[in-house]
Amino acid sequence: MIADFNAYSYLLQHDIKPSVQRLAIVNYLYEHRTHPTADEIYEGLLDEIPTLSKTTVYNTLNLFQQQAAVLALTIDDKNVRFDIDTSDHAHFKCLNCGKVFDVPAVLNSVTSVTLEQGFLVTEKHLYLKGYCSSCNNLSK
Ligand SMILES: [Zn+2]
Ligand SMILES: [Zn+2]
Repeated sequence: MIADFNAYSYLLQHDIKPSVQRLAIVNYLYEHRTHPTADEIYEGLLDEIPTLSKTTVYNTLNLFQQQAAVLALTIDDKNVRFDIDTSDHAHFKCLNCGKVFDVPAVLNSVTSVTLEQGFLVTEKHLYLKGYCSSCNNLSK
C-alpha cells in the first residue's frame, strides 16, 4: 500500500503527464479499493468532471496499465477490473455477490513455472473464486 498518497507524484513516478482527468482517475482508484471497472470509474467521476468521456477513461486506464501504474484484472469474464495496488497479491471473486477481494499472497511462492530462455514475465495473476464469508454464511 502507498502511504501519504499523492496522485500527482504517483503519475510522475510512472512517467505519466498529470492532467485533471488522470489525477481524478488515480484518486478514484486510490479511494475505491473495490477493483472497479472502467464504467464504474466513469460513472463515479461524472459529477466531478461532467466533460469526462468514456473513451478518455478507457484510454487513460490503458496508459496506466502500460506504465504499470495499475493492475488490470481479468478475474471477471464480463469486465476488466482495475487495481491501484500493484504489489504482489492474489484476488478472490465471490460467485454470489461478485465482489473482488484482495488476498495477501507471495505469488512467487505459489506460481513456480519454468520458461524457455529469453522469455520475460511482466505480470503474474492468481485468481481464486468461491463464496465470501457473508455469502457463505447466508447459504448455510
Ligand atoms: Zn459474497
Ligand atoms: Zn487487488
